[in-house]
Amino acid sequence: MGALERFSLAGRVAVVTGGTRGLGAGFAEALGDAGASVVLVGRDVDAAQGVLDTLRSKGIRTEFIAADVTVADDVQRVLDTTLSTFGQVDILVNNAGACVHAPALDVTPEDWRAVMAVNVDAVWTCSQTFGRHFVAERSGSIVNIGSMSGFIVNRPQWQPAYNASKAAVHHLTRSLAAEWAPHGVRVNALAPGYIKTDMSPVDDPQFRQHWIEDAPMQRYGTVEELAPAVVFLASDASSFVTGSVLVADGGYTAF
Ligand code: NDP
Repeated sequence: MGALERFSLAGRVAVVTGGTRGLGAGFAEALGDAGASVVLVGRDVDAAQGVLDTLRSKGIRTEFIAADVTVADDVQRVLDTTLSTFGQVDILVNNAGACVHAPALDVTPEDWRAVMAVNVDAVWTCSQTFGRHFVAERSGSIVNIGSMSGFIVNRPQWQPAYNASKAAVHHLTRSLAAEWAPHGVRVNALAPGYIKTDMSPVDDPQFRQHWIEDAPMQRYGTVEELAPAVVFLASDASSFVTGSVLVADGGYTAF
């Protein structure tokens, strides 16, 4: 097999949580570009329709399953519906996420729980639910979307719950990778820096100094630059890679 062929996802089925907008929509499109059929998971039906239209206009086979990833029954339904619709599932991208900006002393119990529920608990529930299937099949690739915030403390905004949640994602990635490697299942994470989406207001002047000017590349990234890294981690191009956290941050964490 040639090097480029190893990136092909022809015949594979990928599930992308939070595929209704932002990075997840871009990851879904890139996985589809590489040949996969793609299941979008999220709560916003209208937003999902726009992504479905974009992917289908490119000839990508795709469906939307409305689900809240913090609800275990919803996650099981996503797996069951994917299997009944596509007959298989090969890739899980745990991308759904949430962030609250607040100094530690102002973070409410509800804020803390809301961030942990999506960023940690749901990554665990989705990984365990799909992991059961992948381990039984002796095949599967999980890509968790972590963050450079799992390594550094962002500034000027404080976001302690988010930072802790992404460090948890990175170490859960390593834990599951070690445990499931003998079962043919790979688990990796992608740790992005600032990428322009609803979650990251990269154009806001109050963030310009710390987010942009202090960074080695002095710019934010785009989902188009990030998405090929998900294709790499999902595909046979990374068949000897597991337990890795791939940083894609324009050099931000180098300083
Ligand atoms: P957005 O806020 O633009 O999108 C978040 C996505 O998550 C939406 O599709 C939303 O779908 C989904 N989502 C949130 N909660 C739930 C839920 N309970 N159930 C199902 N889906 C849910 O964020 P981004 O695209 O920017 O971020 C995507 C991931 O990348 C996150 O994990 C984030 O932490 C990470 N990341 C982002 C960076 C950035 O700079 N943008 C940097 C580093 C990491 P819906 O509304 O339909 O439910």
